[in-house]
Amino acid sequence: MPTVDEELERIRRLLVDAHERGVASGLGSGVLTDDDEVEGHNNPGAGGAGEIEKDDDGMLFVESFRNVTSVPRGFTRGRKRPRPLSLVNTVLIHQTAVAGGFGLSERLLGRHTGQVFSARQERYRDTPYHGMYSPMDRGSVVQWPAWVHTFHGNGGNDYSVGWAYDGKLPGDVLDLHGARSALRHFVTAMREVGVELRYVEAHRQHSNQRGGDPGADIWSSVVRPLLDELRLEERPTRTTGTGLPLPNDWRGHSS
Ligand SMILES: [Zn+2]
Repeated sequence: MPTVDEELERIRRLLVDAHERGVASGLGSGVLTDDDEVEGHNNPGAGGAGEIEKDDDGMLFVESFRNVTSVPRGFTRGRKRPRPLSLVNTVLIHQTAVAGGFGLSERLLGRHTGQVFSARQERYRDTPYHGMYSPMDRGSVVQWPAWVHTFHGNGGNDYSVGWAYDGKLPGDVLDLHGARSALRHFVTAMREVGVELRYVEAHRQHSNQRGGDPGADIWSSVVRPLLDELRLEERPTRTTGTGLPLPNDWRGHSS
């Protein structure tokens, strides 16, 4: 068994390496010079100089954690102690259930000089999800490293990373293409730092208070079509605590 310190060092090295690769490829050169160093994230739009570039579909992809080895001071959405990456094998899917997605105050927008997506990322830091998709901004955010044990999914917290679609369904129009691209981005980014994701579960499976989380639309139209591509398996009857199995209609069967 590696010691905790050895495991932390290994995690730190993986994160730093992956981070540097991401920054380097983002810059197009594939090679980092001292001038290119960005402390903790490759997201110059959030709190730094410059803008992030949209892709051909108008989408934005950022890994916005500020530092690869620590969470911000004041973080209250999880445990303070890191966990070994080897414990994490599952993506746990949520919807935020906020109609239209999280709003932004004038004050927050002011702090980000009107840059909406940048302000939204700060707002998301008050949430425990490791990754989120913002349909308003068409932005995919990977915000907490996988070794951060956050309180997003009840009995599923220990072994999962949380991903949320920021909206309320049914109700909002589901941004299908954006959500799929964001989930793909999230799973890929986590695997790049050595997280061996094998399973996908719904928040519903861990709490009877969250029976509609993430709901039939997200499960059947976003998650299930990506199972083969992302090499993820559902565990439809696995539950913890008061959780409930996946309903048949989420899985495309009549009930
Ligand atoms: Zn949830």
